[in-house]
Amino acid sequence: MNVDRITDKLNILADAAKYDVSCASSGSKRKNENKGLGNASNGICHSYTEDGRCVSLLKILLTNHCIFDCAYCVSRKSNDIQRAAFTVQEVVDLTINFYRRNYIEGLFLSSGIFKDADYTMERLVRIAKKLRTEENFNGYIHLKSIPGASDELMNEAGLYADRLSVNLEMPTEAGLKLLAPDKNQADMIKPMGYLKNAIIQRTEEKKLFKKAPIFAPAGQSTQVIIGATPENDSEVLRSANYFYKTFNLKRVYYSGYVPVLADSRLPALNTSVPMVRENRLYQADWLMRFYGFKVNEIVNDSQPHLDLDIDPKLGWAIRNMQAFPVNINKADLQMILRVPGIGLLSAQKIVSARKFGKLSWDHLKKMGVALNRAKYFITCNSNEFERRDLTGSNIKQFILATSQSKFLKNTQVQLNLF
Ligand code: SF4
Repeated sequence: MNVDRITDKLNILADAAKYDVSCASSGSKRKNENKGLGNASNGICHSYTEDGRCVSLLKILLTNHCIFDCAYCVSRKSNDIQRAAFTVQEVVDLTINFYRRNYIEGLFLSSGIFKDADYTMERLVRIAKKLRTEENFNGYIHLKSIPGASDELMNEAGLYADRLSVNLEMPTEAGLKLLAPDKNQADMIKPMGYLKNAIIQRTEEKKLFKKAPIFAPAGQSTQVIIGATPENDSEVLRSANYFYKTFNLKRVYYSGYVPVLADSRLPALNTSVPMVRENRLYQADWLMRFYGFKVNEIVNDSQPHLDLDIDPKLGWAIRNMQAFPVNINKADLQMILRVPGIGLLSAQKIVSARKFGKLSWDHLKKMGVALNRAKYFITCNSNEFERRDLTGSNIKQFILATSQSKFLKNTQVQLNLF
């Protein structure tokens, strides 16, 4: 292996891959068998930077050559940049060498499109196959599926990769048409549909036959870019909700648009990356998946944007003050989950613990409840805090004034004005 040449390629192709944020490795269990190399299980690949991006995978493109010209992408064919491509064997060797040195716990592999979808996908699949069958590699592998790739290749990819994902890129078809005229949503939906059915079928087979091969055990995910096109949060979350429900996606990743290219269809180069919006979308997504919220309770036609200065659960609570206070010693789990400051785990602890006696502030504090928020919305077996008749907007200001949020500086400016 010519190290200089490989290092040059690595610099180019790791840099080009950094815009894809859909690399979290949750949800896979692949045992290390036959004294193989590595293993992928819950917990070992969860390493994130402060802004929530995963750092423990080798994250590269196979190539940044591309026949398409998507306006938002640094690899687009009309962009005058240095191009490079790894061979199949080079990616295999890099993965194994990095893994042995403990630099990485798995591989996240995406690619520009060489000639056509199948030509590129076939190479991605070959890398995963070699790692599994020749190197006995049991670490995590996330392959990006190339839109328009054949069912046969998607099937083979599922046999070797832990997770597969097809990027939707834009939240709506209209946005895609505007910025990626070479692509069409049908080419993305087709592999998603194939994977959904194959995962269901293979999971059933595995229940019947222990020796049936595992198939994409970490499921499928997608990524949408936020802020490059004018969709509001309601359109973004409705689209995410549709794809979760229709294709059993494990995750939708929201990637704030990073302005790196001058193009009249895109926000100006000095536009800041919408990091707070990205964070609020993740919180809203969490509410839909784990807290029983319907999408139109979080955003709707009269409230199409998420509040940037407070999280969406608090936003819902102050718009629905008639639902509070919640009696912690009597309310059902679903209602307790809607209280700001009470997470999934704390809600479950509350429901279990109250069987043995009435709960007070002290009990709730010990269970991890954030009382500085929850106290405005609950009653329990203590009277130290009296809720009085506060309005939603009073509560919002009290909470913001005592918040430790890293986004506080955005809101403090506003509070100082009053
Ligand atoms: S197909 Fe992918 S790599 Fe090619 S220009 Fe579009 S987003 Fe970039």
